[in-house]
Amino acid sequence: MKKTDIVIVGAGISGAVLAERYASIGKKVLVIEKRNHIAGNCYDFIDKNGILVSKYGAHLFHTNDKSVWRYVNRFSDWYPWEHKVKARVDEKLVPIPVNITTVNELFNLSIRNESEMQTWIDENRIAVEQPRNGEEAVLNRIGPILYEKMFKHYTKKQWDKYPDELDASVLERIPVRTNFDDRYFSDQYQALPKQGYTQLFKNMLEHPNIEVLLETDYFDVKEEYQNYEKLFYTGPIDRFFEFTGKISEKLEYRSIHFATETIDSEFYQENSVVNYPGRETPFTRIVEYKHFGNQKSEKTTIVKEYTTDIGEPYYPVPNPRNKEIYSQYKKEADQLTDIYFVGRLANYKYFNMDEAFKNALNLFDALQQDKDILKTAV
Ligand code: UDP
Repeated sequence: MKKTDIVIVGAGISGAVLAERYASIGKKVLVIEKRNHIAGNCYDFIDKNGILVSKYGAHLFHTNDKSVWRYVNRFSDWYPWEHKVKARVDEKLVPIPVNITTVNELFNLSIRNESEMQTWIDENRIAVEQPRNGEEAVLNRIGPILYEKMFKHYTKKQWDKYPDELDASVLERIPVRTNFDDRYFSDQYQALPKQGYTQLFKNMLEHPNIEVLLETDYFDVKEEYQNYEKLFYTGPIDRFFEFTGKISEKLEYRSIHFATETIDSEFYQENSVVNYPGRETPFTRIVEYKHFGNQKSEKTTIVKEYTTDIGEPYYPVPNPRNKEIYSQYKKEADQLTDIYFVGRLANYKYFNMDEAFKNALNLFDALQQDKDILKTAV
């Protein structure tokens, strides 16, 4: 049996942060990654058209957390990038999140300021005190007309569930704006890594104490690596317990099929991301990567995203049934010693990138503090 101080399953955000932190305090770290590359779903590369593209969908970093911002700046230079998204609705391209321009363009209005926009919203919304699901959340914010045009069918395509079958939190990720702000996020720090995400992860993992095993399924080599101080598991939590026979119910995940096309012209669309919320289009959005960082190339690469049930697990599906199943897994997980479940798939929770960084950093700090407390108690 091989000895290593820290075993980490998965080389995504959570795995890379923990590897970097433990290596920095002199621990020997082994990262076991099933895929043939590091960086998890942030993985990007230069494609045949010379464009930096992301293999698993666009990743836009944004945070209000100074400590996370400082941390990521240790491993890459970043350039400011305020993400903007347009949605194709009624043959028009309108801003999403909904703002004054969205309403003016779709309904041929000339709302000029916040109070007029608020009046429009008040006339349209169906107010509820505590939205119980995604449908109530959108109706409460913006009312039925825009719910139907921009949210209902997009959500069905994305989740294979209508908004009333999902937690309110899913739809509440997107705000409604009473001004002209057309940014997707409103966080203080919004930026992209200058050399791409893969390089950022390379820089995090480049340490003599860190070894990365690619193309290795942890469950195939598990027996070899039982001699550790701590194990961090970042894969799907139900997979971890699959072989124990303890819980048989599977958690639901959504996956994405990415259909990549080369277009023989300089640009395909005016924006990096165009959403297609209508029922008539089978994909949810088209990403044109060359917009990020204003890249130059003769041709352009576009990626249509089709959400599916088949394929690698990307999105946990937050609804009461899955939450209940997850809580059973969590109970099992909490009983294990020296094994920690961290990240989106292991916690069965949709974290933004900055939250994933933060959670991993916090876990490391908390475990170090516990150690210090134990030391002083002896
Ligand atoms: N959504 C929608 N229409 C859109 C964009 C988003 O109905 O044009 C809904 C959809 O249910 C989605 C949720 O809002 O899952 C959150 O959107 P977000 O962009 O945060 O999801 P992401 O693309 O980051 O997974």
